[in-house]
Formats: sequence, C-alpha cells, structure tokens
Amino acid sequence: MSAFRAGRMLRAVVGRGWRPRSSKPAPSAHASRPGAGFSFELTDEQKEFQATARKFAVEEVFPVAAQYDKTGEYPLPLIKRAWELGLMNSHIPESCGGLGLGTFESCLITEELAYGCTGVQTAIEGNSLGEMPVIIAGNEQQQKKYLGRMIEEPLMCAYCVTEPGAGSDVAGIKTKAEKKGDEYVINGQKMWITNGGKANWYFLLARTDPDPKAPAGKAFTGFIVEANSPGIQVGRKEMNMGQRCSDTRGIVFEDVRVPKENVLLGEGAGFKIAMGAFDKTRPPVAAGAVGLAKRALDEATKYALERKTFGKPIVEHQAVSFMLAEMAMKVELARMAYQRAAWEVDAGRRNTYYASIAKAFAGDIANQVATDAVQIFGGNGFNTEYPVEKLMRDAKIYQIYEGTAQIQRMIIAREHIGKYKA
Ligand SMILES: Cc1cc2nc3c(=O)[nH]c(=O)nc-3n(C[C@H](O)[C@H](O)[C@H](O)COP(=O)(O)OP(=O)(O)OC[C@H]3O[C@@H](n4cnc5c(N)ncnc54)[C@H](O)[C@@H]3O)c2cc1C
Repeated sequence: MSAFRAGRMLRAVVGRGWRPRSSKPAPSAHASRPGAGFSFELTDEQKEFQATARKFAVEEVFPVAAQYDKTGEYPLPLIKRAWELGLMNSHIPESCGGLGLGTFESCLITEELAYGCTGVQTAIEGNSLGEMPVIIAGNEQQQKKYLGRMIEEPLMCAYCVTEPGAGSDVAGIKTKAEKKGDEYVINGQKMWITNGGKANWYFLLARTDPDPKAPAGKAFTGFIVEANSPGIQVGRKEMNMGQRCSDTRGIVFEDVRVPKENVLLGEGAGFKIAMGAFDKTRPPVAAGAVGLAKRALDEATKYALERKTFGKPIVEHQAVSFMLAEMAMKVELARMAYQRAAWEVDAGRRNTYYASIAKAFAGDIANQVATDAVQIFGGNGFNTEYPVEKLMRDAKIYQIYEGTAQIQRMIIAREHIGKYKA
C-alpha cells in the first residue's frame, strides 16, 4: 500500500487548510502548532481527529475488546485499520510521509483509542515510543528508512530499554555494545518490551563505555536494530494482569551486529535520547489513562441510572452520586494535565515537569476511577460479564510503565525544587 493511502482519513482532514489561532505565522500548515492566548476550544480539525478516533473506538474496538482480553490475541485487524485511518504513527514527520501531528493532537486520538480498549491503545502507543528516539535524534537517512517504512506498511516497532535487573534505574542496564570495525556487536537481555514479538525494528539502549564510573550522559548509546538480525531471540508472550492483547516480551541479544550507521546522534548520546523521548510520550500515556477513566465513569453512570435499590435508581443515593462527582472531577483534571503537558512541548518548551505531573496524576486517577466504577456495579462489577473489571485490571499499568508513579514524583520534586534553588 502506498504511503499516500496510509492515513487517508486524517490526511484528508489535514489537507483542508487549518489555520492556527495565533496571529503569528505558523511554521508549518498542519495542526500541531499551539495557538497563543488561552482557549479550551478545539479547532475543527482537532475535533475531526477526535471524532474519527471515537468512531473507530466505539464501532470497531468496543465489540471485540472483551474477546481480545480473554484470548490475549494480538489485535492485528484493529491495528491495520487504525493504521489505515491514520490513527497510528500520526507524529511521523511529513518529510517521511507522515502527518506530522503535534503531541496535543496525538493525545486527543490516544484518549479516544483508550476509551475503546487500552490493550489496543498500548500496542499502538508502543510504536510512538519506539519511533520517538528516531524522531528526536535520527538523521535524515535514518528517519526516511525507519519512519518511512511505518507509513508504507502497518508495521510495529519497539522501545528496548528495560532489563530484568533494571527498570526505574535506567543507568543500571547491562546490555553492552562493542565497536568492531564498522559495526557494533550487541549482547544483553531486555525485558517487558511492548510489541517485542511484533516489531520490525527496535530502538535499543546499550552501554558502550565499559568504565563503571562513566556518567550516564556519556556511557550509553542508542541504536536502531532490525528485528530480523541474526542473534535475536524473542521470548514468550507474557501473561499480564491487564491490557492482555498487548504483546509484552523479553528479548535476548547475542552477538547481534548493527552497522555504525544505525547509531542515533553519536556514541554516548543514548541516555539523553532515551529519556528525552518521554517528554513527548508521557502526555499520550496520560491521555490513555484518561480515556480509560472516562470509560469507567460512563459505564458507572449508565449503570447507576438503571440499577435500583430501596425503590429507586442507585444514582439517587447521594453516596453514589457523590462518587460519580468525584470520578468526574478526576477525569476533567487529568485531561487538563495531559493537554497542558502536550501544549507545552508543542510550543517548543521543556515540558518534563508537566509531562510527569500528567502521567502521575492520570495514572493514579485511572486506578481510582476504575475501582470506584467496580464499586458502583456491586457484585456485577467483580464479574467478567461486565466491562468494569477489565478496566480495573487494565488501569494498573499506567502507574508502572514509562516511569512508575514513584519515579514521576521524583522528577516532579526535582523540577519543582530546582526552581527554588536556581
Ligand atoms: C506491560 C509492560 C509494558 C512495558 N513496556 C516497556 C517497553 O516497551 N519498553 C521498555 O523499555 N520497558 C517497558 N516496560 C518496563 C517498565 O517501564 C518498567 O517495568 C518500569 O519502569 C519499572 O521498572 P521495574 O519493573 O524494573 O521496577 P523497579 O525499578 O524494580 O521498581 C520496583 C518498585 O520500586 C519503586 N522504586 C524504584 N526506585 C525507586 C526510588 N528511587 N524511589 C522510590 N521508589 C522507587 C518503583 O516505583 C516500584 O514501585 C514495560 C513494563 C510492563 C509491565
């Protein structure tokens, strides 16, 4: 399928001539440049992105989500369809055939996908995470080759950083890459890699400086690795608590040879690239958590309007309606948090503080809101025939991946206190 056909739905929307709200000339004609001033109004184009994603989630994801959860099967038909509609890889630059959408627009899409099923959304988001180091640090040749092919075909990629012995402590990773002539030879083991068994290529972080005293900012290098390289062994699909149709695996790299052309930026730049990607991927993770929380709120509200106890719908018991009010407050505030984080980075500003606030807050409220939804469903909430137990299981990962709830607080504290010390 040609790059032109891919994402034809959203491409048609982009082609309709969006104008930024700012009076300054936009650096590019697409929707990703935030306007000046303050407004909660989405542009017509943003509303259309949202509506396309919502329609896909409701009409195509909803009916099959429970079955994918039960079987753990990878949702390939949904992924192909999302690719066709332009709902994945939306941030790939126009120079590589992509839509080049901003983080804000990507987040709007992500929230809707997550409303349908966060297992599907995480599989799609895994691509964004794998691609982001190439978007922020790849040269023209690397971008055209590896991002371009994601537009040509519905392929997956993955971000390979975590290892069995090191997750939060990224600088503790042991995978090493040794330069031999024009190649690097990679040995090590990665763990919990989303899309691990489905990826066409990986972003991989490895240690290139054997000196244990070398600072993280110099000791690691980022590579693009073809998934079919000899020496790669993909482990079994992990059976996780939630988001079960997403593909999570361990991967062993044994004497895997990677050409030096596949180094991102240069030897020693890997840690900053791997961490820098999070500024653009944490807002969408937060948006995913909001999509799940909104779904839990909607399900709980509909149920509370129908279920009767003591002669009236349970929504008329104040304890229940106040729970719904608390849930609504959390959804609204978490949405504002991810939108602020996305807006900041699209404006070209460092958004680390806002990205961590959004990720931490949305991850927490997704768990609280899903748990409350189960409570409102009573015994039915505990049962797989009803939608909310899946939401509660699916929510947990938002407090773990892309930096745990504790790590986000460490970042927020560092950024906050830093302002007082400056
Ligand atoms: C389903 C799933 C998908 C994933 N996808 C990917 C992926 O695509 N690519 C990838 O590279 N990784 C991925 N991960 C890995 C994920 O990012 C890590 O699991 C996460 O960063 C936590 O690392 P850990 O599991 O090693 O926990 P640990 O780092 O061992 O942490 C254990 C606990 O200690 C806490 N803790 C650790 N250090 C501190 C500290 N200094 N202060 C306070 N508390 C602390 C943590 O918050 C946590 O509660 C995925 C994980 C899962 C489960």
